[in-house]
Amino acid sequence: ASTALSRIGLAGLAVMGQNLALNIADKGFPISVYNRTTSKVDETLDRARREGDLPLTGHHTPRDFVLSIKPPRSVIILVKAGSPVDQTIAALSEHMSPGDCIIDGGNEWYENTERRIHDASQKGLLYLGMGVSGGEEGARFGPSLMPGGSHEAYNNIKDILQKVAAQVEDGPCVTYIGEGGSGNFVKMVHNGIEYGDMQLISEAYDVLKHVGGLSNSELAGIFAEWNGGELESFLIEITADIFKVKDDHGEGELVDKILDKTGMKGTGKWTVQQAAELSVAAPTIAASLDCRYLSGLKEEREKASEILREAGLKDEVQNAGVHVDKKRLIDDVRQALYASKICSYAQGMNLLRSKSDQKGWNLNFGELARIWKGGCIIRAVFLDRIKQAYQRNPNLASLVVDPEFAREMVQRQAAWRRVVGLAISAGISTPGMCASLSYFDTYRRARLPANLVQAQRDLFGAHTYERIDRPGSYHTEWTKIA
Ligand code: NAP
Repeated sequence: ASTALSRIGLAGLAVMGQNLALNIADKGFPISVYNRTTSKVDETLDRARREGDLPLTGHHTPRDFVLSIKPPRSVIILVKAGSPVDQTIAALSEHMSPGDCIIDGGNEWYENTERRIHDASQKGLLYLGMGVSGGEEGARFGPSLMPGGSHEAYNNIKDILQKVAAQVEDGPCVTYIGEGGSGNFVKMVHNGIEYGDMQLISEAYDVLKHVGGLSNSELAGIFAEWNGGELESFLIEITADIFKVKDDHGEGELVDKILDKTGMKGTGKWTVQQAAELSVAAPTIAASLDCRYLSGLKEEREKASEILREAGLKDEVQNAGVHVDKKRLIDDVRQALYASKICSYAQGMNLLRSKSDQKGWNLNFGELARIWKGGCIIRAVFLDRIKQAYQRNPNLASLVVDPEFAREMVQRQAAWRRVVGLAISAGISTPGMCASLSYFDTYRRARLPANLVQAQRDLFGAHTYERIDRPGSYHTEWTKIA
């Protein structure tokens, strides 16, 4: 083994760590790697050799690993979030010196990062919580990186991060996010938005298939066509590809044989919890999470469909009894998907703004949209338009009132309402599209029926109300007047 010290180290060589380490080595930065189960160290060394003699050294003990890195040391950790991160930090930090830096690249709860920043500082260590998106491919060939925490630690590895990140026309998909756990928080909201996008796409598929009667090969064609327009994105692209894959075990396409139960790892739930915590409406993301929960009730849903059919509920689509113009439906669904997506991103961005205000993170929303343009799962052409909206007005109240997005929403609303209306009458649930539309319709109304709710609250709880025509707060003895 070479005695020269590595520029950086990475501990945790599962899918993400192994690929990110190879990516860093591939960009010419000598890297040391370590994993608790040492067979993965050897596996990674093998891959580094096979993928072009990359400058990567493997180490079997935390001590050897840490001491193989050039001070001030930067060590990326990519292990399972939660206590494995604490255990890994404990094992490594024993050998680290003041000024060294730990970078946790996992999907960590932001408060854990804030606790670790504090603990690390007691030992003179710097700390970054860095969201990494893009899965296996992204990690190996260019992820979107969301590092938050110590600015000094970021500057130590800025050159590396800028080279390993995905590259788009306006720069690498990495930026210093802000202090504390901001990098993890931004990654969490990215994942919440990802839940929304996936839900909305699945609804578009559902309507096209069950109302429009489209076949898988037609769906593949439609999604491929959409990927050439305003919806161009990684998720639309892979959706087109999915519809083409034949089933190895029988007739037809694989997609039809997949059990309709969605898995999840928790970042969507955290996003919805944070939205509630901060009093920010995020109905599209919440609807996506609810749908995952309902999808899990497969057996109950099967029974419910039996019971309701026996009780006289006819097959949904026939029940609607509507003739659909396929071509128009396809175009309407495209517009409904786009408009719903804008509302979902508006919710995610407003959640970020609220947290940024609470924590003093000073997040730059245009920059966030920019670093999501490449590498990550929600990468999309449309993110450039979001970037521009925040560049036009960094204090934008909501994406839907940006002049350009506002115009697009208005143009698409007729199609959007037709799709949701058709789906409702056909008994096809479109919770994400409905949530987005209700969000839009609630937000755009100058006057809501909240006056009645206030009256009720004052009647039963003397909670008082304000008036539209004079200042002050009022209480009325409602029942005495009546
Ligand atoms: P993972 O399955 O989440 O974790 C496996 C790794 O954690 C292994 O290296 C394992 O070591 C290590 N580990 C587990 N418990 C440990 C402990 N107590 N002490 C030391 N090491 C321990 O791996 P992953 O899928 O590569 O993900 C890593 C992180 O990136 C996670 O936070 C994940 O949420 C996040 N992430 C994943 C993806 C993805 O597409 N997979 C995308 C973005 C972000 P052993 O080999 O010794 O068991």
